[in-house]
Amino acid sequence: MQGNMMNQPLLISQIIQHAEQYHSQAEIVSRTVEGGIHRYTYRDAAARSRKLAKALSALGIQVGDSIGTLAWNTYRHYECYFGISGLGAVMNTINPRLFAEQMTYIVNHSRDRYIMVDANLLPLLEANAAGFETLEGYIVMTDRAHMPETRLDNVLCYEELIEGQDDDYEWPQFDENTAAALCYTSGTTGNPKGVLYSHRSTMIHAMAAAAPDALNISSRTSLLPVVPMFHVNAWGVPYAASMHGSKMVFPGPALDGASLWELIDAEQTNLLLGVPTVWLALLQYMDSIGKTLESVNTVVVGGSAAPESMIRTFHQKHGAFLLHAWGMTEMSPLGTLTTPTPHMDSLSDEDRYKLQTKQGKATFGVEMKILGEDGAELPHDGEAFGRLMVRGPWIVDSYFRTEGSALEDGWFDTGDVATIDPAGYMQIVDRSKDVIKSGGEWISSIDLENAAVGHPDVAEACVIGAAHPKWDERPLLLAVPVEGREVTLESVNSFLADKVAKWWLPDALIQVEALPHTATGKLHKVPLRETYYNYLNEQESAS
Ligand code: ADP
Repeated sequence: MQGNMMNQPLLISQIIQHAEQYHSQAEIVSRTVEGGIHRYTYRDAAARSRKLAKALSALGIQVGDSIGTLAWNTYRHYECYFGISGLGAVMNTINPRLFAEQMTYIVNHSRDRYIMVDANLLPLLEANAAGFETLEGYIVMTDRAHMPETRLDNVLCYEELIEGQDDDYEWPQFDENTAAALCYTSGTTGNPKGVLYSHRSTMIHAMAAAAPDALNISSRTSLLPVVPMFHVNAWGVPYAASMHGSKMVFPGPALDGASLWELIDAEQTNLLLGVPTVWLALLQYMDSIGKTLESVNTVVVGGSAAPESMIRTFHQKHGAFLLHAWGMTEMSPLGTLTTPTPHMDSLSDEDRYKLQTKQGKATFGVEMKILGEDGAELPHDGEAFGRLMVRGPWIVDSYFRTEGSALEDGWFDTGDVATIDPAGYMQIVDRSKDVIKSGGEWISSIDLENAAVGHPDVAEACVIGAAHPKWDERPLLLAVPVEGREVTLESVNSFLADKVAKWWLPDALIQVEALPHTATGKLHKVPLRETYYNYLNEQESAS
């Protein structure tokens, strides 16, 4: 027997309609690409999103067509979230930090018809335009006065397109399983893989993300998403915030410590979201000016593991709680969170910091399990570690335009190796491809990196497994020193001695000026392994 309730589709356009009606005066503030601060309300954003949808329809864009965006976090990119998806087209966010071949691959694979682009990113498209197979034109997200000189054909001006329309537009109704947005994994090896979100998955994810025990997003929230809108839709935050009329502050292209602090201070933001490297820069800047983040209650950290030193600094110096989150492009992205709970309140600061280094409990809607090498499920005892498998309504089923399912018996293999403790806290041990196999045992490169960055002379650390004649692999530490300092293996290893098992201590340390990162800001270990995999063997034969 079926229930008797309305079978109304969940559509992204409902979010902006709701925001217009019930949060009309709540503010959206942006640092613009042109320079200066722009502010308007959800009411303005809703009207302009309708105009955008109308303008795109006038260009012949239809349900199912793909439109690329290559843009920073600003109000215009926000309008694309609704203007493109709301009309039934697919918003394909493109990461400007991708290599040229990957960008060309993505534009062609998604069959983008137009790309909406920030003026200062247009040169990236000019450089790759010859390879674009399906593109009909470019829409530069600025006004006529700021339109850049370009040798590209069919370049339109965003503000002119919008001004050419009125906002008398009814959002179309369609099946909630219709595609809404398309993100590609950065593909550290091989071609990027497309994850095609539906209206339904996006809506359910946003509702779950906003919940009090998730990101706790409400009309009282003033949030700064530093996580880019081209990286898993800024973790779904623009949707979740609009459902609840939060004040939203977009940082534009300026992601350095000084620019972020200026916005945090001026707009009194209380919820910040971003990857650890962004917060390292902000914390260093705050130290240099001797100020604290007065307005900030919560800093959400995801994308890479949050080191304990960062958790401690946010709490002790700035009175802010570091909410550690884990997820991935294939999961829209939210999987787990270290939500503050009454149990956490009862812990000593030190015990709570330890707990916060774990990636957290599954948010409602996500199921997790870990599998051993034989494929059998492992116990949730906080000790056993294995392949982390997930399932849920906002998790990928198959990759875009790729044959076959992405699943194994209905579960998605995250590529992460993890433990789960009896209370349900998941902890990432490593990416399965990064784990170091020493004498038949595993060493977590993430744990070593996080412990090493606690050393006062280490600014950034990366650990890879290097070939070893006796143990198969041993840890090799690459460290960027704090400016003006030197780091040595002896000093780091004596610092690590009471933090990790003795047989985990790195065999060698190489001081480097900088470490390579992927387009999403993670340590890029592939080229480091290529260069240094035989380092220990070479040392051995040289001695
Ligand atoms: P890509 O870099 O390919 O775009 P994602 O951004 O989807 O990939 O990254 C997902 C991966 O990032 C996860 O599978 C995990 O390995 C890593 N990751 C994300 N959040 C965390 C975290 N809090 N701690 C450790 N690793 C994390």
